[in-house]
Amino acid sequence: MKFDPASQIQDLKQFGEFGDVNPCITDSATFTFMQAKTMVDTFQGKAEGCYLYSRHWNPSNKYLADAIAVMEGTEEGWVTASGMAAITCAILHICKAGDHIVSSITTYGGTFAFLQNYLPKFNITTSFVDITNIDEVGKAIQPNTKLIYTETMTNPLLQISDIPALANIANKHGIKLVVDNTFTPMMIAPARLGAHIVVYSLTKYVNGKNDCIAGAICSDKEFIDSMIDVNNGTAMLLGPALDPLRSSAILKNIHTLHLRMRQHSYNAQFLAEKFKKAGIKVVYPGLPEHPGHDTLKRIMNPSYGFGGMIAIDLVTSKQAAELMELMEMEDVGYLAVSLGYFKTLFSNSGKSTSSEVPEDVQHEMGLSEGLVRFSVGLDNDIERTWERIEGCLRKVGFLG
Ligand SMILES: *Cc1c(COP(=O)(O)O)cnc(C)c1O
Repeated sequence: MKFDPASQIQDLKQFGEFGDVNPCITDSATFTFMQAKTMVDTFQGKAEGCYLYSRHWNPSNKYLADAIAVMEGTEEGWVTASGMAAITCAILHICKAGDHIVSSITTYGGTFAFLQNYLPKFNITTSFVDITNIDEVGKAIQPNTKLIYTETMTNPLLQISDIPALANIANKHGIKLVVDNTFTPMMIAPARLGAHIVVYSLTKYVNGKNDCIAGAICSDKEFIDSMIDVNNGTAMLLGPALDPLRSSAILKNIHTLHLRMRQHSYNAQFLAEKFKKAGIKVVYPGLPEHPGHDTLKRIMNPSYGFGGMIAIDLVTSKQAAELMELMEMEDVGYLAVSLGYFKTLFSNSGKSTSSEVPEDVQHEMGLSEGLVRFSVGLDNDIERTWERIEGCLRKVGFLG
């Protein structure tokens, strides 16, 4: 049977204490026991359905983690207080001093900074590669390499990772493939394509409201259990637990994610085609000339489209700034970082979300200083939005 993330979520049965259609919020840090022995068993992970302490597991967090795990088709999930917590804990759990990582050079700025600046103090080093060059990835593997790290759709140039091919390399070397799927929930299920660990910033599309920061790690039961082991689990010991009140809110938003992804994709495809027709240099994986178009078509789940992210090249950062200020004034959306919001957000990548990446590296990865990244919103009338954008482009002298 075909795997469909939205149907997986639809079939979840999660009730509250009184038959509530939404599960109850467990507003407790600790949990009581009637028998002392049950507490001992719970500590040893031997008491099914018992909770001990909310840094380890909280029922509200478990409901959300279960929903994300079924969406990804993994055995287990664990939710974190941020996307960065999910990423850093997963990596730190796999690597020890002296180990090596092979990572896509285009990643989220915070991830790049963690790999490049932070991990060397634990003597963990990273080789950065063009993740779409499978030969280069294979050649970068060393005897001490423990994982390959990538994003399904990389930020901000929207390169597409060939997950089955990367999984092949990882399996050949007995190492882990860790994939950040933040840009492409529902559209892609990396674990189904061979990724060993899937990490998320739920802050973006999954929650979709821009009202909180949250993350998730999905993998097999063995990996998740070992991450929350009381004696040496990285998540348990570093402690980035999500607030259960937030978990409960995010869980409700997951049930509309499929509809939102479809509308984000529809609107982005519409704008990308308009930009192209207007002669603007545009990056969108839904355009046939995008270098990742065919790869994405091969690995994507049908009917969610090519995603809600677009980048256009305004050549200079000054022109990018002018356009963004104008678009904010003309109600196209907001000049803000982040993505996956119901309104359109735009920012100049080189000066914002990728500013952790040194300018020479930005050049090397083909990131123009005038690159404006759009997270296209849920606009009901995207034609009307295009007319506004077109007016702004004309005013800054970018259209004849
Ligand atoms: C935002 C983002 C992150 C970091 O997530 P936070 O929730 O802000 O900690 C990681 N990866 C990608 C691709 C992101 O867009």
